[in-house]
Amino acid sequence: MHISEREPFESWLRPDASGLFCVPGGFHVDPHRPVPRAIVTHGHSDHARPGHDAVLATPETLEIMRIRLGAAAGGQLEATAYGVPHRIGDVTVTLVPAGHILGSAQVVIDYKGQRAVVSGDYKRRHDPTCAPFEVVRCDLFITEATFGLPVFRHEPDAREIGRLLVSLADFPERTHQLGAYGLGKCQRLIVLLRQAGYDRPIWLHGAMVSISQLYQRLGIDLGDVRPVSEATDRLAGEVVISPPSALGDRWSRRLADPVTAFASGWMRVRGRARQRGVELPLIISDHVDWPELMQTIEETEAGEIWVTHGREEAVVYRARQMGRRARALALVGREDEAE
Ligand SMILES: [Zn+2]
Ligand SMILES: [Zn+2]
Repeated sequence: MHISEREPFESWLRPDASGLFCVPGGFHVDPHRPVPRAIVTHGHSDHARPGHDAVLATPETLEIMRIRLGAAAGGQLEATAYGVPHRIGDVTVTLVPAGHILGSAQVVIDYKGQRAVVSGDYKRRHDPTCAPFEVVRCDLFITEATFGLPVFRHEPDAREIGRLLVSLADFPERTHQLGAYGLGKCQRLIVLLRQAGYDRPIWLHGAMVSISQLYQRLGIDLGDVRPVSEATDRLAGEVVISPPSALGDRWSRRLADPVTAFASGWMRVRGRARQRGVELPLIISDHVDWPELMQTIEETEAGEIWVTHGREEAVVYRARQMGRRARALALVGREDEAE
């Protein structure tokens, strides 16, 4: 009996000038340029771009896009909950939690008995501000590789938060200025501090305020958070969270001899911390580290792995050693995330 060859994934999922295009569904995933129909995995600006005619995403991602992009969030915005299958063209699409930030999703695409999963950005650690990553068994797994080198191993979050608390106790006369990405990382750090028993007000740079208010509106309890603009003194001994770009710049002069901290997976690289003048590097990331990436490739049981968004070569090499077909997927508009 003749066993029909399966259609290569490339025949129905392919990168084009706008991003990753699903041919039988007629949509892009996280397109970089305006397209007729987009599925957006999460609200970070290298994934959620302005100007699409139609956008399908989780309700949280659409809220984030409305705040950050206003009317440019898209023409027709369609919210879908996790786990609900949608028929789009000749494929079925289901969004599943990615554990990266509030509302983040993997895109599960079923077509002619084949299943492809586009991970977007994801992590495996517990994050009290979003739904946990779900492993979906599939035939093709398209994974990010932000930290796709064996050197990247993130520390336990509680240990890193503990180091911040020790520094606060050691330097009660200095502000602790914590650089963090404003969407996701900032709010996660606040909740991690709360879980570690820190109940002082936490002060926010103006750039963090509206997204943090959205998190609170969507049910993430951040405790007492206040804009730095409302402070009446130089916040000695307090925690201030700001964008990494504000570390050491003019803005910081209002603070009391700040201890500069930076929470990022990149803090594993000592040179990066030194370069930025970071006194207290905290290795806390919203992406998988190397062992978690390998574990995830195993658990999806996918025979084919496409790698994008970071250090593709090492992941492709290791996936092949693991007996997978693997290739790097060059997509436009992806840089090192300011995570
Ligand atoms: Zn992201
Ligand atoms: Zn990203």
